[in-house]
Amino acid sequence: MSLADDLYRETILDHYHNPRNNGSIDNASATVEGVNPLCGDELTLYLKLTPSGLIEDVKLTAHGCSINTASGSMMSEAILGQSVERAQKIIEDFKTMMLTKEDETVFEDELEELEALRGVKKYPVRIKCALLPWNTLLEGIETARQAQAK
Ligand code: ZN
Repeated sequence: MSLADDLYRETILDHYHNPRNNGSIDNASATVEGVNPLCGDELTLYLKLTPSGLIEDVKLTAHGCSINTASGSMMSEAILGQSVERAQKIIEDFKTMMLTKEDETVFEDELEELEALRGVKKYPVRIKCALLPWNTLLEGIETARQAQAK
């Protein structure tokens, strides 16, 4: 176990024990649910967009394993206040990192923490746990955009 692995594990445990943006939003632009039957992870994602397409608020209620909860917490911090386009790019980069064997994904300083989840790739069965919040967010963005277009 290297020093980097220890730091990554601490980051993940910190987010698991103190999930950021935990809760719900009353007047959300989209409310979507995600399930990972392989592990039993369940989460509800609440998303609020401004008319100009900024992520004004995001909240998560997760009943899942440590990886799932930590990943959702880190994701919420990464995308809060960003434009939808930027959030979509972050999702894409994150998925590339998790799904590519020899990925070279590098996040800029403010998003560096996300790289802590790279270690999860050593446990292929847990990759879905890490990806669930991100796939749910993609669906949430889609749902919110369709509602706005009406
Ligand atoms: Zn899980």
